[in-house]
Amino acid sequence: MKHKKSGILLTAVIISLSLAFIITVAAVFNNIRNNLSSEVISSLEEEVEQNISLIRREIDDKFVVLNSLAKELSSYESDEAAVDKMKVFAEVYNFRRMGYVNLEGTAKTTDGFEKDLSFADFVKEGLSGKAYITAAVEDMLGDSDEKVNVISVPVYDFAQKVKGVMFAEYNSESFRNLIFSDSMQGEGSSYVVDTQGNIITSYGSDVSKDLPSIFSYIEGSKASDDGLRRKVLSNMAAGLEDSGVGPNREDTYFFYCYKPLKIESVDVQWYVFSAEPREVLTRRMKPIMNDIQYLIIIIVGLFIVSNIIHIYYNLKRRRELYQLAYVDPVTGGDNFVAFKQKIGNRPGFIVSLDLVEFKLINSVCGVEKGDEVLSEVWKILKENCRGDEICARVNADRFIIFFAEEEKEAVALRIEHLTGQIKTLSESLNIPRVFPVMGIYHTDSLENIDRCYGDALRAKSLVKGRRDKNYAFYDELDHDAIAMNQKLEESFDKALQNNCFEVWYQPKFDAHSEELVGAEALVRWRDEDGSLIPPGRFIPLFEKNGNIIKLDEYVFREVCRQQKQWEKQGIRCIPVSVNISRFSLYYSNVVDKYKRIIQYYEVEPQCVELEITESATIENTEIASLIEQFRDAGFKILLDDFGSGYSSLATLNQMKFDTIKLDKSLVDFIGNDSGEKLLEFIIRLAHSLSIKITAEGVEEQKQVEFLQQLDCDDIQGYYFSKPLMRKDFESKLERRA
Ligand code: C2E
Ligand code: MG
Ligand code: MG
Repeated sequence: MKHKKSGILLTAVIISLSLAFIITVAAVFNNIRNNLSSEVISSLEEEVEQNISLIRREIDDKFVVLNSLAKELSSYESDEAAVDKMKVFAEVYNFRRMGYVNLEGTAKTTDGFEKDLSFADFVKEGLSGKAYITAAVEDMLGDSDEKVNVISVPVYDFAQKVKGVMFAEYNSESFRNLIFSDSMQGEGSSYVVDTQGNIITSYGSDVSKDLPSIFSYIEGSKASDDGLRRKVLSNMAAGLEDSGVGPNREDTYFFYCYKPLKIESVDVQWYVFSAEPREVLTRRMKPIMNDIQYLIIIIVGLFIVSNIIHIYYNLKRRRELYQLAYVDPVTGGDNFVAFKQKIGNRPGFIVSLDLVEFKLINSVCGVEKGDEVLSEVWKILKENCRGDEICARVNADRFIIFFAEEEKEAVALRIEHLTGQIKTLSESLNIPRVFPVMGIYHTDSLENIDRCYGDALRAKSLVKGRRDKNYAFYDELDHDAIAMNQKLEESFDKALQNNCFEVWYQPKFDAHSEELVGAEALVRWRDEDGSLIPPGRFIPLFEKNGNIIKLDEYVFREVCRQQKQWEKQGIRCIPVSVNISRFSLYYSNVVDKYKRIIQYYEVEPQCVELEITESATIENTEIASLIEQFRDAGFKILLDDFGSGYSSLATLNQMKFDTIKLDKSLVDFIGNDSGEKLLEFIIRLAHSLSIKITAEGVEEQKQVEFLQQLDCDDIQGYYFSKPLMRKDFESKLERRA
């Protein structure tokens, strides 16, 4: 779910970034276009400005020439003489022809034509005393198809009356070359037009020679150009200038600029109209676009590369997480989580395997060697699994295997084979004994693997500590006992609340005087049916689930309460010892807690002694300090069950006990020579350390006698008394004098 969410988020971020990138690029692109458009328009304006001054100068120059010649002609009598004079000028100034028109309108030209031109505008204007310049018009004299531009000035006589008109004709082509500079670099075109848009002359790459009017260039396109046309016409009529972008007749947009062209020598109102095709912009943008393109490629490249890196690290992290989650770091194989995921749901056998005394390998040979052993064991397990079977390390030296077998016998065979292989490791790895123990559980469904594994573990407990057998099937377990255990565990709290736990007292007697000198408090569970459950039945269970701490405290409180009550009843106090399990000792505040309890009941600490088992002294390294603290608080400490298991005389030196309780198994040695010697030695040693001896489990008279001989201090056992209910025990207590 989390993955899906972050995936959606990532996609959203990528899409947003891409959109932002596209929008930015488009904005940059648009900005560049606008800037370039303005640049094109302003260069067009400059262009028009330049052309205007150029054209003005060229035309003014020509009129100066014509006017000065016209002055000379005023003295000429005949038309022929005037024409003769013009011939040299026509040649020098590269006119197509020059001519003189008399008052009747008859024109005579330098190239020999004579024709009535009284209809021509330039003649009419000239005769009325005005200089004139025509648009590109048909040749009125010759038979050439080429168009011409005619400039004309009036010729005056001495009385300053017009006596004729002098004109010069240009080939339109040469006129065009004459007045336009090549500043347009082959792009676009310039037109000299009158205020109606009629073309006087034009120049440039985009010029259609036959166009009569600038509006032929614009006309024919969409409705918007009508707007442009109207605007141009009204501006020109008002003598205004303008520039911008507009559509032309091919519907391709173009840049335009027009400005009025005033010429001193001739009274005409013209305009220079320049236009550049849209492609100019495209062409100018091209290098910039190329740069942007490279930039985009680089950015997109970086984006892709960073994405690839991101994906790579993501995959790597996922792999690492997978390793952490599913791979066992020691064996490199599956862990329990992976096992659960892969196993599926099918019938078969779940085997729980661990190694006997593996801790010993770790502490003797080092953790590295220990890891190597685990790795090798895993390899063996893996080799012993078929394709549809699976194994994994659960933790520490615990493994789980799934055998897809149907018969117990087949599993037993495979287990024996496996055991043989694992045993060989001690030799190949040069380490102490490697020995596996296994519990096996057959299941039809693997839906609850934890439960199956738990049952396999339970089966394994049957062979823990055994030398003759290293595996057991779950069905070998005593299921009634298991169910009973479960019931006991579940009903503990209720039993404690309802005072179902009774404290019984087993008296202790002075070995010599055989007087009652103390007692041991022993707990019993009164079942609902009134029967008694012995402590051996439930204490080990409560030691496993931790309830023993509550139970020990309960018994201790009961004894304190009882001692106080006896005191109030005037009964002489004899010490009662209470058992404290090693689990109760794991609590750091155990001493404080017990001190508070005796304070609460106002009982002297000598009245409640504490029995700590021998195994507790071995397991808890802080035990010596705890014993010290208890003794400082005034408690007497008894070492219980001495000689039952891990007998260590050294502990007598390391820890200060007030009394040693000899275990029944030692007392039972009485009658055996070496056993008796051992007992004698222990008692002597204890006495030399000022430790008292209480013998437990004394059942026979000869045992009493022998212990008396050895100067044993106290005796506890069936010989004198079994554990007694409170009131039976109470009846044996003496009243204070
Ligand atoms: P323990 O502390 O060594 O107690 C002595 C056990 O030996 C008692 O068994 C007692 O009934 C038994 N016993 C005494 N004299 C003889 C004898 O002459 N012959 C035989 N065959 N047995 C004798 P019990 O009462 O069944 O207690 C068993 C163990 O349960 C105790 O061994 C003690 O370790 C534990 N226990 C009992 N009450 C408590 C308790 O309140 N807390 C804790 N932590 N453990 C307790
Ligand atoms: Mg005891
Ligand atoms: Mg004991």
